[in-house]
Amino acid sequence: MRPCWAEIRTRALEENFRFLARLAAPHAELLAIVKANAYGHSLALCAPAVVRAGAKWLGVTSVEEGIAARALCPDTRVLITSGIARGQAAAAILFQITPIAWELWQLDELEAAARAAGASPGSVPVHLEIDTGMSRQGVLPGEISAVFSRFAPGSPLRLEAAMTHLFAADEADGQITREQLACLDGVLARISAAGLFAEWLNVGASAALLAGQAQPIAELAARHGMKALLRPGLALYGVVPEFDPPFDSKPPSLAAALAALEPVLAWKSSVVGVRSVPAGATIGYNGTFVATEPMRLALVAVGYADGLDRSLGNRFHLLVRGERAPLVGRVSMDQSVLDVTEIPGVQAGDEVVLIGTQGSETISSQDHARASGTIPWEVFTRIGARVARTCV
Ligand SMILES: *Cc1c(COP(=O)(O)O)cnc(C)c1O
Repeated sequence: MRPCWAEIRTRALEENFRFLARLAAPHAELLAIVKANAYGHSLALCAPAVVRAGAKWLGVTSVEEGIAARALCPDTRVLITSGIARGQAAAAILFQITPIAWELWQLDELEAAARAAGASPGSVPVHLEIDTGMSRQGVLPGEISAVFSRFAPGSPLRLEAAMTHLFAADEADGQITREQLACLDGVLARISAAGLFAEWLNVGASAALLAGQAQPIAELAARHGMKALLRPGLALYGVVPEFDPPFDSKPPSLAAALAALEPVLAWKSSVVGVRSVPAGATIGYNGTFVATEPMRLALVAVGYADGLDRSLGNRFHLLVRGERAPLVGRVSMDQSVLDVTEIPGVQAGDEVVLIGTQGSETISSQDHARASGTIPWEVFTRIGARVARTCV
């Protein structure tokens, strides 16, 4: 096997889930977000692990991901966060995948598919998304009354949850979140004034949970006779979102998370070969690195097709023999080169760590994100499909 793999600690994932569930309790229950192949961590390894840890709900992006999750976890609720695409309602119903919906055509397709499947009144749960300011998905508050008729008595559809997405829960002052919750409060009043009842208020991702928002969300839910459901993703995988602007003093939930959450993924490769080059040797495409002295170079089996950002060439380092070795020259599609001149004994077969710990050194997903101008979510989800995920 080509030596480029990701080690997934499902035990850490289980512990992280249990920690977050305790953090949410008694205010809220959790829906474990496992979309995009569990943030690149492998749905097949991660979905059963969070269910073992007690998750009753899984969140994926699409019907396709939902079918994969259903096959792994036959008895768990599966929610699709990006709605159904045209023509997919029948599959969603067949596989008991609960959609988030907001477009009238989505509700119409669901209702028609439910009737075709012989569903009894109120037997197909739907989570209605409300746009409280992100302008991405969701019914606009001013247009909410248009959807009410879809949940009228006799309809096979049941309004199980009102859902919204917080778009600035990582801003420590919480101002935008308060505005979004206030907007939601008004919409929930209109929903009950229309004679409809939703059991769940489905609001808040990792940042909201760690910032201590479970309580205000649960209080809002309780005012409307609802229960709160939060949807953490990143924190499950052991990464704490960065708050910007940061907190002056960290809320207890965030301090506890920083101490308790453990990274689930380590990304590794190995040294294919080592060579010595004289001063003046050019390294990699376009010779963007020229040896200024005799150097030792290690060729590593990882490139941008594996998800190592091409912009990190000449600007980052990987771990070998417990030391930081600079990436020299451009990152190629399948390979990259480390300067190991200062690291004695490096040889073919040595393990190289891209994300994780080796000896006393650690490289985190945040380190990659900072160096390549992105966020940990993208660092994880672009780890290539050909990088084998192994359970450790
Ligand atoms: C991805 C996603 C989440 C999880 O977000 P994190 O910041 O990773 O916790 C929650 N809700 C929705 C709708 C999402 O798309």
